[in-house]
Amino acid sequence: MLQLGPVECPKCHTTSEQGVQFYFGGCHLDEFRIGDRLRWGSGYDRGKPGHRLVVTLGLGGDCPGCGGPYAPPPICDPGQWDVFIEDDVITHAQWATGEFDYQRDAEPDPDAEFIVLDDYPEDIRRQVDARRKSSPLDGRRPSERPEK
Ligand SMILES: [Zn+2]
Repeated sequence: MLQLGPVECPKCHTTSEQGVQFYFGGCHLDEFRIGDRLRWGSGYDRGKPGHRLVVTLGLGGDCPGCGGPYAPPPICDPGQWDVFIEDDVITHAQWATGEFDYQRDAEPDPDAEFIVLDDYPEDIRRQVDARRKSSPLDGRRPSERPEK
């Protein structure tokens, strides 16, 4: 489960805390935040290690302000998220925009919905770079991070 918060709704600008479940890496029971590294080899691995950049399907909540934001079809679920993972580090998550169509483009993997990317979309690249500059560890000191 990826814990996010507060995140701002792109539609109504309400901020909320969000928990997004995703199925990539050794995701079993662990709680993650942006900037955390996935671990493989737990016996519950989903997806496949070794990709530089992937986006994977997340299941989260809708915005408490507007019940959305609704991405254009074929995404009908306001609780669908995109989770970006670069070199096994969770770098970004957002409500699905419709840009990534897992039905159509996902890797043929029965256990995980993910798409291998060459690069981030332009606007996400900017947000990832900005976050890296300001707070590479998501505000937590290295001593607070579990070492594995
Ligand atoms: Zn909203």
